[in-house]
Amino acid sequence: MDPFTDTLQRLREAFGSGRTRPAEFRAAQLRGLGRFLRENKQLLQGALAQDLHKSVFESEVSEISISQSEIDSALRNLRAWMKDEKVSKNLATQLDSAFIRKEPFGLVLIVAPWNYPVNLTLVPLVGALAAGNCVVLKPSEVSKSTEKVLAEVLPRYLDQSCFAVVLGGPQEMGQLLEHKFDYIFFTGSPQVGKIVMAAAAKHLTPVTLELGGKNPCYVDDDCDPQTVANRVAWFRYFNTGQTCVAPDYVLCSPEMQARLLPALQSAITRFYGEDPQSSPDLGRIINHKHFQRLRDLLSCGRVAIGGQSDESERYIAPTVLVDVQETEPVMQEEIFGPILPIMNVRGLDEAIDFINRREKPLALYAFSNSNQVVKRVLAQTSSGGFCGNDGFMHMTLSSLPFGGVGTSGMGSYHGKFSFDTFSHHRACLLRRPGLEKIYAIRYPPHSPRNLRLL
Ligand code: NAD
Repeated sequence: MDPFTDTLQRLREAFGSGRTRPAEFRAAQLRGLGRFLRENKQLLQGALAQDLHKSVFESEVSEISISQSEIDSALRNLRAWMKDEKVSKNLATQLDSAFIRKEPFGLVLIVAPWNYPVNLTLVPLVGALAAGNCVVLKPSEVSKSTEKVLAEVLPRYLDQSCFAVVLGGPQEMGQLLEHKFDYIFFTGSPQVGKIVMAAAAKHLTPVTLELGGKNPCYVDDDCDPQTVANRVAWFRYFNTGQTCVAPDYVLCSPEMQARLLPALQSAITRFYGEDPQSSPDLGRIINHKHFQRLRDLLSCGRVAIGGQSDESERYIAPTVLVDVQETEPVMQEEIFGPILPIMNVRGLDEAIDFINRREKPLALYAFSNSNQVVKRVLAQTSSGGFCGNDGFMHMTLSSLPFGGVGTSGMGSYHGKFSFDTFSHHRACLLRRPGLEKIYAIRYPPHSPRNLRLL
């Protein structure tokens, strides 16, 4: 018996009672989630500011309104998504009814990281509730203020017999993962993803793993450097670089690097002023452990822009590194901070080769005025998602699946993909009780005549 046994038992019983299945119940939970966001917007913004020094703008676009629009979309489409999906039939089943039923898995565990602690808990939750599951939500213990709001306030807006927030770090997760769930949806690092998958394997529990990695950003020689610099600086330093889909490094020629550096400096100064530390729009590193890790990375290669840090505030300046070796730590691990190394390649072939020698990333970016160049990068590489001539805008479309491939993850969500992820697709065929004479041709003793009739 551990602290989770009673809660999980309660949720299992609630699922068994069938109360989460009707569309009305699911819609009521989704509306409750929407009310939670609207009525606690300032509380959430305050918690995000405490945890990550997140600006109101970033909290709004990347945490609150993105969650709200997932709720709105699920409410709009719920009945259509829940409908049985009719499928084509063969000769032997012409008179029958064949369809796919989307049924809830049952008891679902959602585990979230700290970098977008509202978005990455609520957006999967929308899918799980819409699909009619009971849910255990485990927010990150690292983003403490947001964790507190999620644990203390969110349950008041949902049916507590079907939903629970549980708290804890690695040790509690170890206990939690001993239990059998019907589905586990995990967002976090590849290292912990392996732990989660190994624990799930003991119960043969299916998983979605939303992981991370090093996202390449190729910049072709024909680009306008200022346009590229604006876009790259925006999405590298958004949330202080603590974004799973941020560009981890730039790949370009030495000539493009020389044009890109002053353009990046100009973008950084326009965005965050002469003294980025005093900018209200630049966040802070989540904790001292990550601050130390990132400060160590500043010694890789040569600092071309930024490089300052202040431990008392966990501040790291928007930084660009050049002359970096592939073997240095900044090119070996996911950076997850406001540091952008530029790696030099001679042309597109070398860039594609550089990308393909590494693990498949969560996102891949290619900038070029030539459509053909962008399409070649797309055709000759693999990644969870891809965006040409901009950064992470592909993930703002809920009509696209969001997820990784290889070590950046498995499975996907957003919009209808979330509903499908949290639903078992049950293959159903309803046949007639009569017509036994026709069906009898399949029974032994077999004859050449029956074979001809098939
Ligand atoms: P993490 O893997 O350390 O933690 C994620 C969750 O796992 C947390 O809830 C944490 O409590 C739990 N956890 C931590 N250690 C554990 C252990 N030993 N055993 C069991 N559970 C454990 O990740 P993080 O530091 O919170 O987030 C950063 C990582 O997440 C990065 O790699 C980033 O790329 C990735 N990420 C991916 C996405 C995505 O959508 N693909 C989004 C955000 C972050």
